[in-house]
Amino acid sequence: MLLTGKEKLERMRDGRIVYLGAERIDDVTTHPAFRNAAHTVAELYDFKSDPARRAELAFEEDGEWFSLYWKQCRTREELALRMLALRKLADVTFGMFGRSPDHVAGMVTGLSMKPSVLDALHPGFGDNLTRFYKHARKNDLYLCFATSPPSGVRSTELFPGQQRDDPCLRVVAEDDQGVTLSGMKMLATGAVFADEVWIGNLTPIDEKHKAESITCALPFNTKGVSLWSRRAYESTVQHELDYPLSYRLDEGDCMLVCDSVKVPWERVFLHNDGVWSRRMYIETPANCYANSQSNIRFWAKMSLIAGLASKICEANGIDKIPAVRELLGRLAALEATIGGMVHGQIEGWEAWPEGYATPNRRFMYASLNWCQEHHTEIIDILRTLLGGLPMQMPASIDIFKDPELKSRFQRWWGTANLEALPRMKLYKLAWDLVGSEFAGRHQLYEKFYAGNSIVVRNQSDREAPWKEFHGTVERLLNRVKAPEFK
Ligand SMILES: Cc1cc2nc3c(=O)[nH]c(=O)nc-3n(C[C@H](O)[C@H](O)[C@H](O)COP(=O)(O)OP(=O)(O)OC[C@H]3O[C@@H](n4cnc5c(N)ncnc54)[C@H](O)[C@@H]3O)c2cc1C
Repeated sequence: MLLTGKEKLERMRDGRIVYLGAERIDDVTTHPAFRNAAHTVAELYDFKSDPARRAELAFEEDGEWFSLYWKQCRTREELALRMLALRKLADVTFGMFGRSPDHVAGMVTGLSMKPSVLDALHPGFGDNLTRFYKHARKNDLYLCFATSPPSGVRSTELFPGQQRDDPCLRVVAEDDQGVTLSGMKMLATGAVFADEVWIGNLTPIDEKHKAESITCALPFNTKGVSLWSRRAYESTVQHELDYPLSYRLDEGDCMLVCDSVKVPWERVFLHNDGVWSRRMYIETPANCYANSQSNIRFWAKMSLIAGLASKICEANGIDKIPAVRELLGRLAALEATIGGMVHGQIEGWEAWPEGYATPNRRFMYASLNWCQEHHTEIIDILRTLLGGLPMQMPASIDIFKDPELKSRFQRWWGTANLEALPRMKLYKLAWDLVGSEFAGRHQLYEKFYAGNSIVVRNQSDREAPWKEFHGTVERLLNRVKAPEFK
C-alpha cells in the first residue's frame, strides 16, 4: 500500500509516550514542538503516494503497489531507478531528514535478501525477518532504529562495592511468548514520527554482554516504551522566515527507554550473539542499502548548500571576484563529487547476494567516509562566504508589525542586488544551516550518524582488496633488480 499524508498523521496519534523535558506530549501532530515536522513527514507520504509519481517512486508486485525503497533489486536498472527515487524523496526535505522512511526500510530490505544468515543462527528468525519485511512494506511503515548503547555508560565493570542499575538495553527475561527488555538505546532519530523502532547493534558487543545483542522490532505504543526527546528546535520558532529549517525540518532525536517491555518471539531476529548482531548487516546488503540512502541524501543537501552559497555571493555583490569564484567552483566540484560517487555505486553494482543486485559496497563505504570527512569543511566554506552578514539581520521578521521599523528596514537593508525582505530570507536560511542550534545538530549528525570515524573507516578497511593492492606493489618490486656488485 501507499499511505497518504493524512493516514500517516493519524498513525502518529497511537498513544506513544514522548517526553520533552518533563512534559508528556499526547499528540505530536498538533504540539508546537513537533507539528511542523510531523506535517513534513506527511508531505513526504503525499509526495510518494501521488498516482502521477508511481512510475518513479513505487513498484508493483502481485497487483499491489509499494514504495520503491522496499524494492529488492535484481538488476542494475532497478538499482538506478531506486537511487533516483531516493534522490527525489531527499529533495522533499532538502537533504535535511537523515532518517527519512527510506533509510531503515533499506536496511530491512537488505536483510530480507539473505534471511538465511539469521536462520543459520537460530532457525525461524530468518522467517520472522521475511514476515516483518512483508508486513512493513505492505503497511508502508516508517521505521527508525536505535543501534548504540548509551554513550558514557557502556562499561558494566563495577568498582568494588558499587551498585549500578545499568541502563544498556538488554534482555532481562525470556519465556515461551518472547523476551523482556529493559534499558536505553541511542539515538532514535525520527522516532517521534515513525511507526516502529528497530532495536539492534551497529557497534561490536562483547560476548560477556550478549544479552545486549537483542535485535527486534516493536511499535512505539508497546507498553513500557517511552521516547525522551532532546530539545525540539521548532518549539521556539515563531515565524518560519526567522529559522526556515528549524521550523519544519527538525527530524528529532530521542533516547529509546524500555522498562520491562515484552517482545513476542515473532518480532525477534537475533538473540544472544554479540558478534553476529553487528555482522548480520554486512553479510547481507542491509548496511549497503541503508547507507547508500545516506549518500544520496547528502548529495541532495549539497545541492542546497552550493545553491545557497552562490545566491549569497550574488546578494553580496561579490560573485564576480575571482577568489570568490574559486571557492564557488570548489563547492560545485564537491557537489559533483558526491553525485559521481552515488552514480559510481550503481555503475559498479555487485551481483550479490545470489539473484540480487547491490550498490558497490566499497564505493558506498568510501562515500560514507567522504561525507563524514567533508561536511564540516563544506559548511565552513559557506560560513566563510557569509561573513558577518547574518548578524546584521534583525532578530525577527516581526519588525514588520511596526510600520516605522518596517519602512526603515526596507529602505536601508536592501541593496542594488536584492530588496531587504528577500535578503533577510536568504541570510536567515544561511544562519539555520551554519549557526543555529539546528545547524549544530546537523554538524554532529553528519559526523556520527553511521558511527564514529573508527567505525566508518573500519568498513573500508574490511572490504578493501588488500591482497590485490599488495600484488600491485609486488609487481613493481619484482621489476626492480638489485644491482650485482663485483
Ligand atoms: C544527531 C545524531 C543522530 C543519530 N541518529 C541515530 C539513529 O537514528 N540511530 C542510531 O542507532 N544511532 C544514531 N546516532 C548515534 C550514533 O550511532 C552514535 O552517535 C555513534 O555510533 C557514535 O557513538 P557515540 O556518540 O557514543 O560516540 P563515540 O563512539 O563514543 O565516539 C566519540 C569520540 O570518541 C572517539 N573514540 C571512541 N572510541 C574510541 C577508541 N576506541 N579509540 C579512539 N577514539 C575513540 C571517537 O572517534 C569520537 O571522536 C545518532 C547520533 C547523532 C549525533
